Amino acid sequence: EPIAETIERLGAIVPDYPKPGVVFRDLTPVFADGPAFRGVVDALLAEYEGRFDYVAGVEARGFLLAAAAAYAADKGVITIRKPGKLPRRVFSESFSMEYSENTLEVHQDDIPAGSRVLILDDVLATGGTLGATARLIEKAGAVVAGFGVVLELKDLGGRAALAGYPVHALVAY
Ligand code: 5GP
Repeated sequence: EPIAETIERLGAIVPDYPKPGVVFRDLTPVFADGPAFRGVVDALLAEYEGRFDYVAGVEARGFLLAAAAAYAADKGVITIRKPGKLPRRVFSESFSMEYSENTLEVHQDDIPAGSRVLILDDVLATGGTLGATARLIEKAGAVVAGFGVVLELKDLGGRAALAGYPVHALVAY
């Protein structure tokens, strides 16, 4: 079965979460299925093979993908975290999302300058999260190799918000 079909078969659709009017796509059943999880990670890696030095994951679901991808590719993993979680000097970026305001942080010295960083997350919606992550990587003097997501919600315009960067989505609705 192609990975896109596996994701569509296993992903859950949750109306009115986390608030009325929002349709949430829950991918935990995809992550919970061994062959599906491996297939997702392998498909994201295949797209960027040989073109990155680190894999960054966005807290928290992105950590699962980034850790698995970094391990499989023999690369280091970079944690992009919610405010107040990283103990040393950080870069911070704030942004708005479909249903909240948020800030993300990265340690100033976790990424060597000039490194190529592949950024992974579960879902691309408005692009606020991944756009802020790209700014963090660039503040650190590193280069965004591209973005990989399991699912892209096309109506929310994330791809336009990330114009100029490679974006690979395994499924787009
Ligand atoms: P954006 O910043 O692109 O608007 O939203 C993407 C971020 O919010 C991702 O970190 C993603 O985990 C989360 N997100 C937004 N909508 C959904 C959704 O429908 N399902 C899931 N699983 N995550 C979502």
